[in-house]
Amino acid sequence: MSRTPSRIDDILKTAVRGGPLTPADGVALLEDADLADLGAAAHAVRMRLNPEPVVSYIIDRNVNYSNICDSYCAFCSFFAAPGAADGYLLSKPTLARKIEETKALGGNQVLMQGGTHPEWDVAWYADLMRFVKSHGIHVHALSSPEIQAIARNSKMSVRDVIARLREAGLDSIPGGGAEILTDSARNAISPLKCTTEQWLEVHREAHALGMRTTATMMFGHKETLADRVEHFDRIRSLQAESLERAGGCDAGFTAFICWTFQPTHALKRMESAGGAEYLRTLAVARLYIQNVRHFQSSWVTMGPKVGQTALWFGCDDMGSTMIEENVVSSAGVAFKMTSPELCAVIRAAGFRPQQRNFYYEPVEALYLDAPERTRDVVGANPRNEALPDEAFAQVRPAPVSNPISKGARRR
Ligand code: SF4
Repeated sequence: MSRTPSRIDDILKTAVRGGPLTPADGVALLEDADLADLGAAAHAVRMRLNPEPVVSYIIDRNVNYSNICDSYCAFCSFFAAPGAADGYLLSKPTLARKIEETKALGGNQVLMQGGTHPEWDVAWYADLMRFVKSHGIHVHALSSPEIQAIARNSKMSVRDVIARLREAGLDSIPGGGAEILTDSARNAISPLKCTTEQWLEVHREAHALGMRTTATMMFGHKETLADRVEHFDRIRSLQAESLERAGGCDAGFTAFICWTFQPTHALKRMESAGGAEYLRTLAVARLYIQNVRHFQSSWVTMGPKVGQTALWFGCDDMGSTMIEENVVSSAGVAFKMTSPELCAVIRAAGFRPQQRNFYYEPVEALYLDAPERTRDVVGANPRNEALPDEAFAQVRPAPVSNPISKGARRR
């Protein structure tokens, strides 16, 4: 249905003033708003929430400690089934080297994600967190599907698992595994992965414990436009709940990050959403979710040019330099920039770059005048350098066939 220009104009004015949009407003904007008008409105909201003409970025490393996973998501080219020959677990010396390299490049965080392992429990992960934290770096790790798998393997509540891992060194939880937060969309692409409620439960419990997390969305696959807006709505509602619990202090999600699905494997015949659809969805998300302060540009997936344009469509942050990236690159898409290149892209868009930490606090940038110091130090695929350690041999489960082909549904 095509709306009148005045109806769209009214919705945009409401959003720019800070008024909450309804799900019907969100769908109307996705369907009928002019792209340039959406960008202008989203940028106005961005400048109200983050008034400085500054675009922040973080130097961190995406360490995928293992690819063993029993969730079999249809879009994923990264995982190896339990017992498969190409499954890996990074050894502790390899992890230590990656962390020390990150610190040497001025990085202050590791983003650690793997798959959902059928056996590893909270004691195993606590040991991993303790080891990583002992290297003195912010540990942003373990997405909702992993936390749910740990809780299941350990027969513990999600809250107790997060509390135990936090004690061991876990600082914050990434928004991975959200894809689209409606069960109809999730059942179409990842029927064994955690449900919408289970994804939200992990973030709700983390927020209740005072831990900060991030929210993500991967769109452009099997979902409808109404599904995208429902996703925005679930994030906004949980953030409102977490802020209320915190009594007005900074709490809950630090940032929202969205990107488009990259066709792989079983979904290969699907078209990937283009830059215009990314910018449209990003801008509507910025207008809808105004209680999450920061929005990251997804230049690693969308490329530096679209990523730069996103800075005028609601983003105030350029995300990470991604010293290493394996999941997106497994799908055949991964752009790379060094810190000086990232800063040049930010300056060319009309903003001042500022290195930050996880909490969006400014930190002193190192090596901006020495590009060779920030060149990435490893290739994208860690399998070449992963040395399975003894722990791997002991816990490798017996090979199984893909249960989805037999009609399995999540536990
Ligand atoms: S997306 Fe994550 S949970 Fe799904 S198969 Fe890949 S590694 Fe496993």
